[in-house]
Amino acid sequence: SMSRSMFHSRSAIEAGDLVIVYMSRDNLTAITITPGEVLHNKYGRYTHDDLIGQKFGTKILYLPDISYITMRLGIRVGGKVIEAGTGSGSMTHSLSRTIGPTGQVYSFEYHEPRYEKALEEFKSHGLENVRLQHRNVCKDGFGDVADVEAVFLDLPAPWEAIPHAMKTLRPDVITKICCFSPCLEQVLKTVSTLRAEGFAEISTQEVLIRTHELVVPNDQDHLNSVSSIVEKLKTHEKRKTDRRAIQMKIARNKARRQNEADASPTAEAGSKRKLEDKPDDLMDPVNGLAHEEGENAEEGSATQDPSSWIDPTTQYDSVVLTKPTPDMKGHTSYLTFASFYPAAIRDAIMAQENPKSAIA
Ligand code: SAM
Repeated sequence: SMSRSMFHSRSAIEAGDLVIVYMSRDNLTAITITPGEVLHNKYGRYTHDDLIGQKFGTKILYLPDISYITMRLGIRVGGKVIEAGTGSGSMTHSLSRTIGPTGQVYSFEYHEPRYEKALEEFKSHGLENVRLQHRNVCKDGFGDVADVEAVFLDLPAPWEAIPHAMKTLRPDVITKICCFSPCLEQVLKTVSTLRAEGFAEISTQEVLIRTHELVVPNDQDHLNSVSSIVEKLKTHEKRKTDRRAIQMKIARNKARRQNEADASPTAEAGSKRKLEDKPDDLMDPVNGLAHEEGENAEEGSATQDPSSWIDPTTQYDSVVLTKPTPDMKGHTSYLTFASFYPAAIRDAIMAQENPKSAIA
């Protein structure tokens, strides 16, 4: 996002302008727009020429949340989707791109100046598949909009819009909703409304911003060749297999000891039969059960010592390339997702959960 410089009253960025580039809460950069120059940082490569003509305040990087929401909502080429409110129009642009020319985005904004600004911007950016309406969706619903497959609500009281949104859902497919809320009180109201309206698979996720630091090992060999990485993976896989074999052996020993414990002196014959009845896959393929007489037999050999596998100092030759910084950098929101099933599926589920009422 770019902030307006205090020295100008123009709305679009020009060469020579001082622009504050907001990458994240703790990453702000001031640049003087110079044709031909490039701003390069860990988020990407931004040519100043691309910024010229953009409006101050434009969001050009908001994609991690948007792409995740788009994926979870199952938005596809040719799809129909509702969005409220429009706000900066950043989500609208992404939705418009995702559904393509054969799809339709219905966007709603009740704040008049914001609506006017978005309308102008969508027109100048050629977002022909977006229909923007000036409307309070909590009070007045979504009008004549019908047959949408996904609804994205980014407004303060989504629970007031949910009952209206229900009426717009396409009845013959599983439809999806996502509500974006900054605080948990809103989430609780949203979740209980979704439940009351018959939504399924309701789940909430907290979206956290974590900075991952790139850790470059001192030993550059770790990174240099594909074959060295393949070798390491092979070693790792082999250790996993070995470990599994040992765990199986321990399980077998346990089973054997259990059998021995079950064999009270008066029921010795029965216990022997039980031991012999053990399925083959519980028998040690090489040595059978015979070689491990005595309580602590499996501890006799180092490779059989389970603690050698649990020991935290065990080395796995792994290469750590990134690690999250230990403190939480930010919280953007809670995302609540839910699905709405076609009536036939809802009836079938209900019948399964409550067979008596289905018969009646
Ligand atoms: N997702 C947007 C984006 O990508 O920029 C941001 C949306 S912003 C957080 C919330 C917007 O919803 C505001 O512009 C606000 O005016 C609008 N809004 C709030 N309640 C509304 C309602 N009941 N009907 C329509 N729009 C509403």
